[in-house]
Amino acid sequence: MQQNYQDAMAMVRKFGKPDLFLTFTCNPSWSEILNSMEGVQRPEDRPDIIVRVFNMKLKELLEDICKHGIFGTVLAYIYVIEFQKRGLPHAHILLTLDSESKIRTKDDIDKFVSAELPDPCTDLRLFQIVTKCMVHGPCGTININFPCMRDGQCCKSFPKQFKDDTEENVNGYPIYRRRATEPVQVGKYSIDNRWVVPWLLKKFNAHINVEVCASVKSFKYLYKYVYKGHDAASVLYCTLFLYFEYKKKVLWIMMKF
Ligand SMILES: [Zn+2]
Repeated sequence: MQQNYQDAMAMVRKFGKPDLFLTFTCNPSWSEILNSMEGVQRPEDRPDIIVRVFNMKLKELLEDICKHGIFGTVLAYIYVIEFQKRGLPHAHILLTLDSESKIRTKDDIDKFVSAELPDPCTDLRLFQIVTKCMVHGPCGTININFPCMRDGQCCKSFPKQFKDDTEENVNGYPIYRRRATEPVQVGKYSIDNRWVVPWLLKKFNAHINVEVCASVKSFKYLYKYVYKGHDAASVLYCTLFLYFEYKKKVLWIMMKF
């Protein structure tokens, strides 16, 4: 872990600090996963299929980023895969872009990252993906028991403030544009742009959170974050999880006897 972190720092020395920080989360409702279920199986019963489909999608995302240059020319990238408690994988990706492609102005930021709900009249599918995958909570006073709540406050500071324009650099991160619009009904809650997690592309139908790393201050934290200690435990957890999921029935019978 320490060695990986040092390697990443060597990359910073050679290529400069990272420009984008992406989090790509597995969506258990991907058709590739659902179509592979047999009988009454649910995605959580088949972690073997989940990890394979996720790996396929991650490769595709990296190819779009590195070969097809959706953000411009990539000089260097690192990624780390983690597993949530439910067994769903997600990848943290850090990208360093070349000087031509660097994200400098608020127009560059608006081009790649949005923290607003898309218009359902112009693109219904995108609207559905964003409202399904990229809405935080809601938490706070409307939903006090949401897991992000710490001492009556959201630990991820949602809902954010409405903002007419993107601001490039506030303590190392941009503040994204979130215009005040009419709220929409999502499930039993009515939500507006203050609850949207910054999102990237409609292609993947997944939670892809993207942040622009604006200042020198944030990059060490980011590399530390992706290489944080519990990754080692995650790998172990994943292996155990897969093993136990696979052997569940056998174990259950053994325990009964
Ligand atoms: Zn929250």
